[in-house]
Amino acid sequence: MIHIDQLGFAYNGQPVLTDVTAHISPGECVALLGANGSGKSTLLMLLTGLYTPIQGRVRVGEIRSPGQQKSLRRSVGLLLQDADLQILGATVQEDLELGLGAEQKDRDAAWDLAGRFALQDKWETPVQHLSGGQKRKLCLAGMLLRHPGVLLYDEPFSGLDYPAMLELRSLLKANAAQGITQIVAAHDVEPLIGVASGCLVLYQGELIYSGSLSDVMDDLARYNVRPPCSWQREKRLLDWE
Ligand code: ADP
Repeated sequence: MIHIDQLGFAYNGQPVLTDVTAHISPGECVALLGANGSGKSTLLMLLTGLYTPIQGRVRVGEIRSPGQQKSLRRSVGLLLQDADLQILGATVQEDLELGLGAEQKDRDAAWDLAGRFALQDKWETPVQHLSGGQKRKLCLAGMLLRHPGVLLYDEPFSGLDYPAMLELRSLLKANAAQGITQIVAAHDVEPLIGVASGCLVLYQGELIYSGSLSDVMDDLARYNVRPPCSWQREKRLLDWE
């Protein structure tokens, strides 16, 4: 369970998140929606222990912040928008095995995940020779390997072509089926329809909505989030009826 309790954060004295309270159940896949600058990335940074709250607190399972940011960083995986900032190893193998124990089962798990993300034939490839899509897959594989319980994604659909988008949707669904708790920050809701089981909407640093995705569709435009084309089409059809 993730508890966010009256959370507040500021950069250089400028408040960017105010009094955010939300609860996320284990295994939920939550869409974190909001326009650029609404505070989505900052909230993810607080949930991963990379930032410390200036007000309120977060709790992921039994780990709390403020207080246990280091443990939080170990327990919660964050997929950054820019894969180049996340890849640390020189080759696919090195990156996946970084920080793993010496046990054979850990190495086998890394190899298996490379297979799941079609990276086994790139095992010894220098990471700078990977395509953008392969780099993102490497980051996803690393995240699943190290933080299997709670995964956060910062705008993971940005820049993906259609097949990659479908692949990511399948991965999110498969993770949810395995009981992994996921929060997906996005400024565009369309790729998350049929995937997200719940929704949080941030507007100018405040949590303006917490509930189901379908119940907020009519209000998204008011919060500067584009309603999905499919929804608008459906609404128009309903209006005609
Ligand atoms: P989002 O992810 O929704 O685009 P962010 O959390 O990145 O929103 O940003 C929220 C607000 O905080 C924005 O006004 C942004 O300009 C500001 N901000 C983000 N990062 C920094 C930073 N490192 N220093 C100062 N202000 C920042």
